[in-house]
Amino acid sequence: MKTNQETMPAMQPVQAETTLRFACHPGVACFNECCRELDLALLPYDVLRLKKALGISSGEFMKNYVLVSREAGQVFPLCRLTMVDDGRASCVFVRPEGCSVYSDRPAACRAYPVGRGAALRDGTVREQFVLVREPHCQGFAQTCSQSVAAYLDSQELAGYNRCNDALLRLHQHPKIQDGSFQPDEQQLRRYLLALYDLDRFRQLLKRGVLSFAFPLKKEQQSALEDNDEELLLLAIGWLERDFFGG
Ligand code: SF4
Ligand code: SF4
Repeated sequence: MKTNQETMPAMQPVQAETTLRFACHPGVACFNECCRELDLALLPYDVLRLKKALGISSGEFMKNYVLVSREAGQVFPLCRLTMVDDGRASCVFVRPEGCSVYSDRPAACRAYPVGRGAALRDGTVREQFVLVREPHCQGFAQTCSQSVAAYLDSQELAGYNRCNDALLRLHQHPKIQDGSFQPDEQQLRRYLLALYDLDRFRQLLKRGVLSFAFPLKKEQQSALEDNDEELLLLAIGWLERDFFGG
């Protein structure tokens, strides 16, 4: 993100029913501007979709497109999409005609200019929304309007939200919140393996090197074959048990 005062985005809390006057299409003068100078964190479901779209393994995707870092104060590593060194920090997937992975673009790209936050309260996911207004974005000058909820629905986020919300059981676990859990090096490796390198995780499960401490239900068996979304949900449970017991 650009950081000087003129290019700083304005953030405005909004509700699901708030009317959003916004539209984005190849005809806008700023087309593709939001795909440059950005810092794009990838969640596991984003990686799952992108590696499938590119027809490569999760290991290849992580090696070629992801920078992993662990920042001060963060319990878990952060995975960021690499940007092109073109002086504008352009997304590696942006082309003159638009996003080359459009149907599998990350959740943050789909929801933009809305940001969705989710928190686990008494076992229920509570959503919060914020509207991000960047000075270069001319989508707000378009005439199309709808509610924030309708806009997000149109961006087909259901699969993303399902997996990202399941991840809250790890990221917002009480032992994370009270600071009593700090993963060791091996747990950090297992975190990256199970969430971000699903193909390798599946291989290790099939070879019996790793296993679930619970029998898989019939509908979960497909995770060991080709159902990546089911495997990711199982991986979250596997890590939950590994990190926090139970
Ligand atoms: S993934 Fe697509 S929509 Fe997202 S920043 Fe890159 S080019 Fe833009
Ligand atoms: S209107 Fe906004 S979201 Fe659309 S291309 Fe322009 S900057 Fe990006």
